Amino acid sequence: MFTVSLAATLTALASAPATAADKTTNIAIAIHGGAGTIDKAKMTPEKRSQYEAKLLEAVNRGYQLLAQGKTSQVAVIAAIQILEDSPLFNAGKGAVYTFDETHELDASIMHGKTLNAGAVSGVKIVKSPIALAEAVMEKSVHVMLSGEGAEQFAKNQQLALVDNNYFDTEHRYQALKRAKRKLAEKQRALNDFQAAHQTLAPEFKFGTVGAVALDKYGDLVAGTSTGGMTAKRFGRIGDSPIIGAGTYANNKSCAVSATGHGEYFIRYHVAADICARVQYQGASLSNAAETVVNQVLVKAGGDGGVIAIDAKGNIVMPFNSKGMYRASRKAGQQAHVAIFKNE
Ligand code: ASP
Repeated sequence: MFTVSLAATLTALASAPATAADKTTNIAIAIHGGAGTIDKAKMTPEKRSQYEAKLLEAVNRGYQLLAQGKTSQVAVIAAIQILEDSPLFNAGKGAVYTFDETHELDASIMHGKTLNAGAVSGVKIVKSPIALAEAVMEKSVHVMLSGEGAEQFAKNQQLALVDNNYFDTEHRYQALKRAKRKLAEKQRALNDFQAAHQTLAPEFKFGTVGAVALDKYGDLVAGTSTGGMTAKRFGRIGDSPIIGAGTYANNKSCAVSATGHGEYFIRYHVAADICARVQYQGASLSNAAETVVNQVLVKAGGDGGVIAIDAKGNIVMPFNSKGMYRASRKAGQQAHVAIFKNE
C-alpha cells in the first residue's frame, strides 16, 4: 500500500512542468482483473479486500513508473505481472484448467505509436506470458507465436520457465470439476457437446487481466494475459492474444484491453472496433466503448467488458456482466478501485 508521503511525491512528480520531450502531463493507467458473474453474495469483506489490495498494488505500481517518466509499455507489463503472479486472477499463477486438467496461457501487447505487437497462445511453461508477448514484439520478426514454438523462443530469450503445475490452484481445480459436472448434465440433456459447452455459466469463463496506459511521451499501450476459459478443449484460443479482438492500441485513437466470452470478442473484433469508431467516426472514447460493449455485444450475447484509454488520458471501463475487477489512476489523482456497477 502507498504511504501518504509517497503518494504525495508521486502526485507532485506527475504534475511537474512538462519538458520539451514530454508530449502530455495526462499520464494515466487502467487495469482489469476480469469480468463475469461475480456473485455479490459470495463476496465476503475479506475476499473483497484481497482483490482490492492486489488491484491497488498493480495500478499504483504502473502509475508510479509512469510518474517516474517510464514508458506506458513498462507500466503495462509491470501492472500485468503483479496480477499474473497473484492466484486471485485467471492469468499466470491461478490460471483456469483446460478440460484435460492442464493450463494453456495466452497473452498479447500492442504499442500505439509503432503499431508493433506481440502475442503468444497456448503456452504451458512460461511463467509470465505477457513478458513473452513483449519479447515477441521486440525481438522477433513475427507477431504471434504459439505452443511449443513460442516456448522454444522463450527459452532462447532466457525467460523464466516453470512446470505446468506451477499454475495450479485448488479453487480453479474445484471450478473445473463443477464445470465438468455441469457439462455432463447438459450433454445428457442436449446430446450435443458443443451446445452444452455454450451453456457454461460466465463464472467459468472470466478472470483475465489487462492494462492500458498513456505515458508522458504521448504513447498508448495495451496488454492482456489469460488462462482462457475453464474446461476449454482442443487447443482453444480466445480473444486475449488476438490483436484487434482482446487487445489493440493506436495513438490516433485509443488503447483497449478486453475480458469476456472470447469467441464473441473475436467475431466482433471488439478492441479494434472501439478504436475505429474513435478514429473514423470521431466518436468520444466513452461513446465508442459503451456502444460496442453495451449495444453490439449485448445484442450478440457476448458477456464481458473492456478498459480503454485515449490520447488525452480519458479512461472508460464499461462492462455488460455483473461485475468487472478494475482500477484506474490519473495524473494528480488517487487510484480508483471497483468491482460492481456504479462504484
Ligand atoms: N477473454 C478470455 C478468453 O475468452 C476470458 C476472460 O476474459 O476471462 O479466453
